[in-house]
Amino acid sequence: MRVAGGGRPRREYFGKDEEPGEMRLTCPHCGERDLREFTYGGAALERPTGDWSAAWDDYIHLRDNPAGASREWWVHGAGCGAWLLVQRNTLTHDVMSVTEARA
Ligand SMILES: [Zn+2]
Repeated sequence: MRVAGGGRPRREYFGKDEEPGEMRLTCPHCGERDLREFTYGGAALERPTGDWSAAWDDYIHLRDNPAGASREWWVHGAGCGAWLLVQRNTLTHDVMSVTEARA
């Protein structure tokens, strides 16, 4: 996403009292924590089925850069170590849900 004016995103993209780049996640085990305790684990994509196909190639090699709703894997590496499925908005930084990943 390109932001008008270049450089840092404008203040209005963030909530009241929120600094650009600041984000917190609420771990189901540990509670609300600073984002620096977590490591991004990639986009939570629908896994293709069946033998090798173009869908597998896309799944492994191509990534969207969504402006808006996004499903992502995060791991609470500096906390409980749980893998989490985070649904958030990449434009507003609103976090809709954080749930523990289940096999
Ligand atoms: Zn945790």
